[in-house]
Amino acid sequence: MESRRVQKLSIDQMNENKRVIVIGAGASGYFAAIRIKELCPTAEVVIMEKTGKTLTKLRISGGGRCNVTHDVTGNAQLLEHYPRGKNFLKKVFYRWGVPETRDWFEKNGVELKVEEDGRIFPVSDSSETVAQLLEWRAKKLGVELMLNSSVVTIVPMPKDGFYRWQINTNTSGSEMATDVVMAMGGFPKLSQYNMIASLGVEIVTPVPSLFTFNINETTLHDLHGVSVVDARVKLVGYPESYNGPLMVTHWGISGPAVLKTSAWAARWLNEKAYVNTVLVSWVNLSEEELRQQLNENIRSNPKKMISNLGLDGVPKRLWDFIISRAETPVNKQSADLSKYEFNKIVENVIRMPFEVDGKTTFKEEFVTAGGISLTSVDSNTMAIKSQQGLYATGEVLDIDGVTGGFNFQAAWSTAAILAEAIAKQ
Ligand SMILES: Cc1cc2nc3c(=O)[nH]c(=O)nc-3n(C[C@H](O)[C@H](O)[C@H](O)COP(=O)(O)OP(=O)(O)OC[C@H]3O[C@@H](n4cnc5c(N)ncnc54)[C@H](O)[C@@H]3O)c2cc1C
Repeated sequence: MESRRVQKLSIDQMNENKRVIVIGAGASGYFAAIRIKELCPTAEVVIMEKTGKTLTKLRISGGGRCNVTHDVTGNAQLLEHYPRGKNFLKKVFYRWGVPETRDWFEKNGVELKVEEDGRIFPVSDSSETVAQLLEWRAKKLGVELMLNSSVVTIVPMPKDGFYRWQINTNTSGSEMATDVVMAMGGFPKLSQYNMIASLGVEIVTPVPSLFTFNINETTLHDLHGVSVVDARVKLVGYPESYNGPLMVTHWGISGPAVLKTSAWAARWLNEKAYVNTVLVSWVNLSEEELRQQLNENIRSNPKKMISNLGLDGVPKRLWDFIISRAETPVNKQSADLSKYEFNKIVENVIRMPFEVDGKTTFKEEFVTAGGISLTSVDSNTMAIKSQQGLYATGEVLDIDGVTGGFNFQAAWSTAAILAEAIAKQ
């Protein structure tokens, strides 16, 4: 969308005009701007973006395919995917959830498809389709865009019982607004939230979420590319464990089971400086079930070398690795396994320990846990409780989901809710 300078209104003129300034041209900012114009065409809506580009993260999201949302059976299931924000989002999703999102995109010409694991992408398999729709729709509705406009201060200007806002930028002077939408995304440092904190808004210290675990073990690295479909990951000392696909990488372990663990334990791991023992179960079986399965295998194949015995769902290279970690000779016949060796194999299948020493971003994908405290926000309107006409949406809030389209869903939903509130005023 072409950048255009907006007409400036004085504080008095604005008593008759609704003028909304959206700070940030990401997914949540764009969606908020579009929905405000859809519901209240007379409002003047301006997006101010600090960079020279729009929708940067969205364009690289989902490996360039944009995982727009996730196919879920209902809101209760949807909420289970948010380590932070679950209770707050209950009301929000009730009003704008996955069906509304799918409907909006489909009605506006972006055909969506559901993949086997429930993730929803555009049929085009290109994030450009989603980005172009948002840009086209915003332009068509008359949303104005100011690029290279980094907002440095948001100043409340109460007048005659009404609030007005002065938005000061580092390059394009000041703008006045009746309503302000903060859609600036997440920041890694607490100090980067100073502009928001100065308005009396409580900030939860940010920490990264969604990352893979570094493990300095070359014998594990040699297995890179090996994956299992249903592993279980447990951090020693952390109460929960998480399952899902797991992959061995050049630097450690990755895949949905690890990313899920990193999201739920984001703050706990941060306190531990990302150094901790992790126990990996390569199959999602109880110890009892595993022992039974292995015993049956051995009974039916007593003469098979243990290396050829195998285990359902465990690739051969990984099985050999498990046997070597269990200090069992790979050429031993199954029937000759000692009780000690059998127990060691069981232990290494369902509780193989690794020392995690640091984290690595997964395909550049990450989100910020932390940001605007949800205690400062009204979940009916997304308004900041202590301020009139100030709203927040998307990743700037202390809301984050696991991978699978849940972060965009939170962005679309919170944006839709605040648009309704602004339009209703
Ligand atoms: C590589 C990658 C892949 C991802 N893939 C997926 C996925 O497939 N599915 C999913 O659900 N989630 C995904 N995510 C997460 C998702 O992209 C984010 O949760 C989402 O983009 C948040 O949208 P937002 O609008 O809140 O913030 P952002 O997209 O970060 O947009 C914020 C905008 O505000 C601007 N801004 C910041 N400060 C100022 C200021 N002071 N003045 C003016 N402008 C400002 C920024 O420049 C930016 O353009 C991915 C994240 C990454 C990094």
